Amino acid sequence: MSSTLRIHWAIAPEIAPQPLINCNRCGTVKAYRCSGKFRVNANGKRIDVWLIYRCVDCDNSWNFGIFERCNRRDIEPALLQALESNDPGLARRHAFDVIALRNRVGRLEEFPDVVVQKRVLGGTRESAALELQLGLEMPTSLRLDRLLASELGISRSRLQVLEERRLLVVDPDGAKALRKPARAGMTVRVDLAGEPDHEAIIRSAGG
Ligand SMILES: [Zn+2]
Repeated sequence: MSSTLRIHWAIAPEIAPQPLINCNRCGTVKAYRCSGKFRVNANGKRIDVWLIYRCVDCDNSWNFGIFERCNRRDIEPALLQALESNDPGLARRHAFDVIALRNRVGRLEEFPDVVVQKRVLGGTRESAALELQLGLEMPTSLRLDRLLASELGISRSRLQVLEERRLLVVDPDGAKALRKPARAGMTVRVDLAGEPDHEAIIRSAGG
């Protein structure tokens, strides 16, 4: 097999994690959904900024602290402007900041769903070898084998067999990588020459 079809996968999470909070209005633990809106409170030189979450059932709000008791001089004017105008990209970055969120609330509901944009980098569609280059907008908890199974349309057990026969190679991390979360910079090479449905798989991959 001389030529390889190289495809870049840009992977973006679909649903932001939802903190599980003891909702005082519902009287029980509920998931809170990001509203996409910031609340900026300027008091003299001091600024507090929160991202507002709402209970999925009763709409009660919870504030996720982004800046607390921060000196106005420490916040760039462009950033302040973005916060005050509820910049969607900025809200998204904070809404997906799993580590900061978990530090605040302890428990989160996370959603592994992702959107994958596929772009051919080179090679020919007639080849039966694939090289997938993974790009992640932000870290994901989605396992590599689940990602590959859903995007290539083949089962995880079949991926395992391909890996065992060294027809599927993940760089870095090798054999263990399939069961771990997909990471940015990973390359997955698959030799499909012996697979009768290789054309369908290559089409699913974005070829
Ligand atoms: Zn509630």
